[in-house]
Amino acid sequence: MSHEISTFGVVGAGTMGNGIAQTAARAGLSVILRDVEQRFIDRGIAAIDKSLQRDVDKERLTADGKAEILGRIATTTGLESFSEADIVVEAITEDLAVKTDLFRSLDRIARPGVILASNTSSISITKLAASTSRPERFIGMHFMNPVPVMKLVEIIRGVATADETYADVKALSERMGKTPVEVNDAPGFVSNRVLMPMINEAIFCVYEGVGTPESIDEVMKLGMNHPMGPLTLADFIGLDVCLAIMNVLYDGFNDSKYRPCPLLKKYVDAGWLGRKSGRGFYVYG
Ligand code: NAD
Repeated sequence: MSHEISTFGVVGAGTMGNGIAQTAARAGLSVILRDVEQRFIDRGIAAIDKSLQRDVDKERLTADGKAEILGRIATTTGLESFSEADIVVEAITEDLAVKTDLFRSLDRIARPGVILASNTSSISITKLAASTSRPERFIGMHFMNPVPVMKLVEIIRGVATADETYADVKALSERMGKTPVEVNDAPGFVSNRVLMPMINEAIFCVYEGVGTPESIDEVMKLGMNHPMGPLTLADFIGLDVCLAIMNVLYDGFNDSKYRPCPLLKKYVDAGWLGRKSGRGFYVYG
């Protein structure tokens, strides 16, 4: 059963949620954006405003166009208005219990047949789907940061996800100007399964004295054509996030090849989390 999607629900107005809301509104969808407190909504809307204003300044968008996009985003601290939504994408805190609790509520409020999707970076889609009565209409919709800029949406099928659900989300992603790529549910999906062990290995190279962070980043940039070296990227993502994802891979596969580098653990213990804390593999001003 395929559904016409015109009202797009987003839960969580943080980094990812406000980017998803902006991208959906820009694609002409009516958006309902929810966070738990008004101040988090205000912060999310301010981020959207700033991002759109950058496009106005660069003459990629008119002031009227910006106002129309913002006008398509309704906000709420409740959940009731998601009864109007044709799909709901969750982008809240990366915590299984918190997400499961939300999906139980959304399952009660959203109309039957409405797709529930999660932007989780690491939690099992199959497990989240099982907390609802509609696992066939449940899917992973993994956007990349910053959402308005990055082309990829990794679409993750849980074990029970129906083909129609995948087809609906694929079409919606394309409508949002994104390139969807289908993957199956496994720890780290594809994106973090491949990226994080590479970053972790770069950290082992620092740990073992094979190279300095500068030399390792330079090798990967000039030699592999990566736009950013792995240690610069790790600092950008946040070393605590990198460690959490390595732990998901390590625990999920019970395979020592995913063990987090001791130096990564030490930096996180020290509060050296990368760009956001002012120090990681590099020092930020
Ligand atoms: P964030 O901390 O910036 O935002 C999370 C927001 O969710 C906060 O504003 C918080 O108040 C809100 N929230 C918490 N519980 C809520 C609830 N029950 N209802 C409504 N809002 C609630 O986090 P983020 O970086 O945007 O990450 C969100 C999700 O996206 C996580 O699952 C994360 O793993 C995933 N993700 C993050 C990135 C990234 O680069 N930041 C990339 C891909 C996926």
